[in-house]
Amino acid sequence: MADSPDKTTLSDADQKLIVDALTPKWAGSHECPICKAIHWTLVPYVSTPMELAGLKGGIRIGGGKVQPTATIVCMNCGYTMNFNLVAMGVVPPDSEPTPSGGGNVTT
Ligand SMILES: [Zn+2]
Repeated sequence: MADSPDKTTLSDADQKLIVDALTPKWAGSHECPICKAIHWTLVPYVSTPMELAGLKGGIRIGGGKVQPTATIVCMNCGYTMNFNLVAMGVVPPDSEPTPSGGGNVTT
């Protein structure tokens, strides 16, 4: 993935990479499961679910592994879907970012 000028917003090329990876995998109807609209947009930055400690270990924020994730939002009702960019093959597994900045999602 290429850097965008501000390093947080996905470049047009990176957005195209994600859309091109998702399009052939999105089988069946593209209707929103909530409102049935077909008006999706890609959020123009990568986010991540945060790893928390185990159920009995309390909550730890930061320091764990993260998974780069693309977010698609229904522009009619706000229904949101997240896609793991490693699983999609957009980001190599060995370039997963870490909260400490030790990883790198750029190539
Ligand atoms: Zn919707």
